[in-house]
Amino acid sequence: MKRIFLSPPHMSGKEQDYIAEVFKSNYIAPLGEFVERFEKRICEYTGAGYALATINGTSAIHLALRVLDIKEDDIVLASSFTFIGSVSSILYQNARPYFIDSDMKSWNISPTRLKKAIENSPKKPKALILTHLYGQCADLDKIVKICKENDIFLIEDAAESLGARFNGKHTGTFGDLGIYSFNGNKILTTSGGGMLVSDRQAWIDKARFYATQAKEDLPYYEHKELGYNYRMSNVLAAIGVAQMEVIEERAQKCQEVFSWYQEELAEIKEIKFMPELIGSCGNRWLTTLTLEKSDPKVLISALAEQKIESRRLWKPMHLQELFKGALAEVNGVSEALFQKGICLPSGTDLSQRDVQFISQCIKKVLL
Ligand SMILES: *Cc1c(COP(=O)(O)O)cnc(C)c1O
Repeated sequence: MKRIFLSPPHMSGKEQDYIAEVFKSNYIAPLGEFVERFEKRICEYTGAGYALATINGTSAIHLALRVLDIKEDDIVLASSFTFIGSVSSILYQNARPYFIDSDMKSWNISPTRLKKAIENSPKKPKALILTHLYGQCADLDKIVKICKENDIFLIEDAAESLGARFNGKHTGTFGDLGIYSFNGNKILTTSGGGMLVSDRQAWIDKARFYATQAKEDLPYYEHKELGYNYRMSNVLAAIGVAQMEVIEERAQKCQEVFSWYQEELAEIKEIKFMPELIGSCGNRWLTTLTLEKSDPKVLISALAEQKIESRRLWKPMHLQELFKGALAEVNGVSEALFQKGICLPSGTDLSQRDVQFISQCIKKVLL
């Protein structure tokens, strides 16, 4: 019996050719032609103006905060229902996170809660980090408007949602800045990697400066500001360029896997799949659902016995010990989703038979 993983890497086949080119040129490090090609491809694909390739998505978010001059005691609004990499850099900057709960319509930030948080905030928040969870779009129409009206910078965490569109426009390109991740389990992977995008060239230039140790433009090593070593290597960018050739295929496959599950599991009445907002088209990076009466832990261990990997949904940030006492606008939605939810294997190399097998195992437990 083969092991079925949640979201394993899926190479296009071109990666090793491009890596071979990198080795031939000996531009193994630090930068090189493929880094530029990868950045250019991301801009062409998403419609973003400018892009900067980074070592991972977390560092891209950190750079976004630096570029926006988020510092000590500044308030940064953020999705509570997200992965830690989305918000840890708020603490790197000694700023104060203010977590916003979700709504049931999108599982992402509730625009109503967001407004409340802005009203209740002890001082004016500077930025919002908005996650598009599991590749499904947040309510961008309302959220962009709220940010504009309140003069709050919008950083889109599109780490999971490359290829997702809202009214035909790519997630990651609505905000002042956006980020993507190419971590091992994402829809595309470079083993580890990230991308910062913006329509404002000055911000991407500034981020590039911070990401390369904040070296002043002088013929010796002069430093006035704190920087980081956050740039992606040319070898990994070569993987990224090869992966970008199949992004549309991969996103379509994730959606197909989702529709297979929908069909196979339709008879289980207690299952509710993650919704999709009207006007949006998520990438369905992971197929996720809630169980209205059964315990997800029981299902997860039953699947593990069949060598099928499944997982709980993200534990909300406002419930994490790390963020004990942090500001939060809570309505119980993300906590309930965490208690009831599970992620199913959603790799882009799954066959319809794999999904049928997984669904059979789920039915044995739930029916
Ligand atoms: C993966 C992920 C990140 C961080 O990306 P890394 O490349 O792993 O640093 C940030 N936010 C979300 C929502 C993610 O899923």
